[in-house]
Amino acid sequence: MRYVSTRSDAPSRPFSDILLAGLAPDGGLYLPEEYPQVDAETLARWRSVLRDEGYAALAFEVVSMFVDDIPAEDLRGITARAYEPSKFLDPAIVPVSQLSDGMWLAHLSNGPSAAFKDMAMQLLGELFPYELARRGETITILGATSGDTGSSAEYALRGKPGVKVFMLSPAGRMSPFQQAQMFSIDDPAIVNLAVEGVFDDCQDLVKEINADAAFKLKHRIGAVNSINWARLMAQVVYYFAAWLQVSDGGPVSFCVPSGNFGNIAAGHIAREMGLPIDRLILATNENNVLEEFFRTGVYRVRGSAETLATSSPSMDISKASNFERFIFDLLGRDADRVRQLFSQELPANGCFDLSGTPEFAAQAERFGFVAGASSHADRLAEIRRVHEADGYTVDPHTADGVHVARGLAGASPVIVLETALPVKFAETIVEALGSQPDRPARFDGIEDLPRHVTQIPADADAVRAAIEAAG
Ligand SMILES: *Cc1c(COP(=O)(O)O)cnc(C)c1O
Repeated sequence: MRYVSTRSDAPSRPFSDILLAGLAPDGGLYLPEEYPQVDAETLARWRSVLRDEGYAALAFEVVSMFVDDIPAEDLRGITARAYEPSKFLDPAIVPVSQLSDGMWLAHLSNGPSAAFKDMAMQLLGELFPYELARRGETITILGATSGDTGSSAEYALRGKPGVKVFMLSPAGRMSPFQQAQMFSIDDPAIVNLAVEGVFDDCQDLVKEINADAAFKLKHRIGAVNSINWARLMAQVVYYFAAWLQVSDGGPVSFCVPSGNFGNIAAGHIAREMGLPIDRLILATNENNVLEEFFRTGVYRVRGSAETLATSSPSMDISKASNFERFIFDLLGRDADRVRQLFSQELPANGCFDLSGTPEFAAQAERFGFVAGASSHADRLAEIRRVHEADGYTVDPHTADGVHVARGLAGASPVIVLETALPVKFAETIVEALGSQPDRPARFDGIEDLPRHVTQIPADADAVRAAIEAAG
């Protein structure tokens, strides 16, 4: 399997090359040259694999279809270590449960940091050191986080040979639980930098350092951000796992709480592979850039002033970094058109309009996307409703999904992807239910552990100095 860029016909590249690369040299994102296909026979076999050998074995099956330059026995070890049941709160890794109204939840947040990002990061945490060792290289991961990505990356990469992590977060702006999760990690190769500024400042610093070619080369700066292809590939697996547990062969719909379009892009890929998915229901919060596109055909990027701080903060985005991948497929993989739409950094309020195109008109039929938005009041009402009906507490992001799914479900069963555990967003749970969410025992007392974090000004030289100091 080889990989192509969404923006040019540059020669395709093998998996192991694009694993450690971020963007393609032309600024595009990587996608497989073509999507591998599964038929009913394969799905029947995978049903037994999941039942008899577990999630890691299914992950091996799915990932093997995308990776042909790692020997099979090595890849089996990689997937087995990534999805080792003891790292997850439930040995099924991604169990499903049914609410009393018939809707399903696929539980993606049983990993070390209690958010679905662990599903992908755990695989990166094995693939990166493997590939680095093969090449005799090391890497310095530099990232910016507003909450979930940072702790997920740190839990996955701690103690991995050849990998150092520098994670920027906006000082004092993450939830107390998220801060405790990250800052309690005690590992010299994991460095938390609390930046005096907001999340956008953190991202700008990462961009500035990456633009410094000499520094970047000297310290082998890399990233694990949501455009990394291997993250999407890892996420494809749970669409199969959830479908296998809910369906006996017929189509199901998935509802996905969305921000950067990473999670639902994996659903799109699973559907293109032939998994019987009816609708891909995209849920946004008040920041409805993506909902607006699927409703109108107009993609209008927002500026940070127009990006609201909501009670489902991990979906507060103004520009969806993975969206270009879907547009590439929507436009029949026409890299020239994609380049025209995306190549000039879209300014705030920059937009493109596909509303008059035959591709947009055929979208729902061909690709299955429908979309809805949720508000703070909707979110609180759903948390209460599910709690009263089923005694189960959903987190605010999952509540957005449940709300939107309720409005847009068709005839097929709907699986809502649960993207975080409520303990991460206790304040909103208390507002909805008047009581604290359950806290899994593994997180007991993390707020009391010593904190490993250095506060720095929003200045690239301070970041450079921290990286230099670590050698
Ligand atoms: C990251 C995140 C999302 C959004 O996922 P995308 O892949 O960016 O669309 C939703 N919910 C939670 C809890 C998250 O951490």
